[in-house]
Amino acid sequence: MTTEGEKKNNTARAEPAARGARCRFCGAALSHVFVDLGMSPLCESFLSADQLNRMEPFYPLHVYVCGECFLVQLEEYVSPSDIFTDYAYFSSYSDSWLSHMKAYTDLVTQRFKLGAKSFVVELASNDGYLLQYFVQKGIPVLGIEPAANVAAVAVEKGIPTLVKFFGVELAKELAGKGQQADLIAGANVLAQVPDVNDFVEGIRILLKPDGVVTIEFPHLVQLVDNNQLDTIYHEHFSYFSLIASEAIFAAHKLTIFDVEELSTHGGSLRIYARHAANGSLPVGRRVTELREREIAAGYKRLETYSRFSEKAKATKRNILEFLINARREGKTVAGYGAPGKGNTLLNYCGVRGDFIDYTVDRNPHKHGKFLPGSHIPIFPPERIGETKPDYVFILPWNLKDEIMKQMAYVRGWGGKFVVPIPEITVYP
Ligand SMILES: [Zn+2]
Repeated sequence: MTTEGEKKNNTARAEPAARGARCRFCGAALSHVFVDLGMSPLCESFLSADQLNRMEPFYPLHVYVCGECFLVQLEEYVSPSDIFTDYAYFSSYSDSWLSHMKAYTDLVTQRFKLGAKSFVVELASNDGYLLQYFVQKGIPVLGIEPAANVAAVAVEKGIPTLVKFFGVELAKELAGKGQQADLIAGANVLAQVPDVNDFVEGIRILLKPDGVVTIEFPHLVQLVDNNQLDTIYHEHFSYFSLIASEAIFAAHKLTIFDVEELSTHGGSLRIYARHAANGSLPVGRRVTELREREIAAGYKRLETYSRFSEKAKATKRNILEFLINARREGKTVAGYGAPGKGNTLLNYCGVRGDFIDYTVDRNPHKHGKFLPGSHIPIFPPERIGETKPDYVFILPWNLKDEIMKQMAYVRGWGGKFVVPIPEITVYP
């Protein structure tokens, strides 16, 4: 794979920014641009007031697609230990995410007959938002979470949690102690792993011979179809199609035998995998159907990927057009939410306090801080009722229904909701 990729790319156009960059899965040289969102700060690096006058590091959001394996990826500019050791994202602050994970727990417990003798491991277990539901069922669990501050919250809830990064080394250590898993779960972690081979090989080592692993990640096809350019940020190193994820798992002797298409995070896949040698779980129709759909939609051809750049630019123009017109008419705009994706969007579009006065968030850890790059201040949600803005600009558009329900009182003063993705839309 590598040799062929090198040959092909030596004759292709040179991309100076990617000189030396190689595919994190197959090692081929990266030279095909998926989208270039310019320079952006780390999207979870919220600033305190005393940091506002200091320099702020910006890194490229320049995304490539591998011409060999079609893995869409961002170079690793910052090491995960810089990003994830003091992480501001607490999974438990979203109601719909919690009910999604509770439903998952019921589903897999029944389907794979998990009980008091089973062992469930979650990779990137955050504040214990998922494992708490297994604990309630009396199923032994272990969380693995590199961010010490969120792991501490899980431990307080009585969920055993190791503050470590997962990979081959940790998997060998646990397997060596007889702690192999019947179920390994991972939601929104695979994209955030720079060394995807070390991570998936770790899964193979940690998984019992008849065990099952489920991994959820945003689906690349949804990103492309629905202009989800703001799901691209430095913490997300890879963007997966089913095709790309199957290749990676197969390289580590794991077979994807089922897949579900979920509505979470704007459209995710939940893949179910097992050891290639475990024939008791045959590959289901949902896998072959989705694979064929991706191939028919062009996900094995580079032109399909290169078209995304123009879509991103059109999305930016439309968002700016709305904001310029609103401010020109003297309307006020407040943000709702301070998610990572919001920071990509605001920085790519060049939107600061000149367009959005402030934003609000339910997470108290973010109050009194400022968004990276744009320096928009973050307040508790009550601020909206105090200032009565004309528009509430919803940054976590994947939670728009939940947010519009919670904030329905905005309509009391004639306020409207605005959702930027997939197309800027005003909800009266
Ligand atoms: Zn590759």
